[in-house]
Amino acid sequence: MSKFRLKMSRLKGEQVASQFGFEALPVDPFKIAKDESIVVEAKKPDREGMSGCIVFNDDGVGIIYATHIRSEGFRRFTVAHELGHYFLEGHPEEILKTAPVHFSKAGFTQGHSSIEIEADHFASGLLMPTRLTREALYGAPVGLEGIQHLAGEAETSLTSAAIRAAECAPYPMAVVVSQGDQIAYGFMSESFKRLDRLRFLRKGDPLPYTATRSFNSEEENISSRKSICGSTRLAEWFGGEKTIALEEEIVGLGSYGYTLTVLSSDLLAGDPDEFEDEEEKLVASWTPRFAYGR
Ligand SMILES: [Zn+2]
Repeated sequence: MSKFRLKMSRLKGEQVASQFGFEALPVDPFKIAKDESIVVEAKKPDREGMSGCIVFNDDGVGIIYATHIRSEGFRRFTVAHELGHYFLEGHPEEILKTAPVHFSKAGFTQGHSSIEIEADHFASGLLMPTRLTREALYGAPVGLEGIQHLAGEAETSLTSAAIRAAECAPYPMAVVVSQGDQIAYGFMSESFKRLDRLRFLRKGDPLPYTATRSFNSEEENISSRKSICGSTRLAEWFGGEKTIALEEEIVGLGSYGYTLTVLSSDLLAGDPDEFEDEEEKLVASWTPRFAYGR
């Protein structure tokens, strides 16, 4: 799975949002499905862990999302993920090789096939296009508050907003999702990666002995969605030589069972980086190719 393909999947999501006329948040995947004459239904899942599925029939395309999904944000993400299997180049063909139906587990879970990960990145780009995401982040304080603002504007879950925010934050920011004393995954913004020579966090790495680790030792903190703010140093999480102080904002993700940690600093959030320009050039250079796709 190349990083390039993931980026292209995300950009395709952004492009579909714009093609269907969404120039402001929130982007509505239900409306896009309707405009494409795709029938969307809620159904009780007949497979464990299934978030939704897409069906390619002779008489049309249908999307089903699981009724057990209570969060509106995750429903929207699920429908956007299924739209990814419809819009991404090669996905319908790949699915139809085995059956006219594909069952999904949306939401950046580990150990997925490549089309699942690509569909997640598509969904992320569709619901939170780069320009609109950066605008939402500019309109709020640095860190967790910015992510909460983005999740509200984009009508997504806090977790998917956090991942997207870390990908395109205009300032140094890292987000870490953890459970117990282990890291589930972590994302850093481009300018965060440049702070020092850092190591990447991997699934299963032990959490450093910071406020997040003590937060996780109390089950109640996670289930009651408690939120606290501590302070930490860059090197405690990522190694490196420099002494850089960071805010460590922590929030329990409720029944999801995980904890979200946001690492950022007002002091580091000075000049916006040049990420946007590169990104726009890349979108422009790929647009003709997309236009001939589905
Ligand atoms: Zn899928």
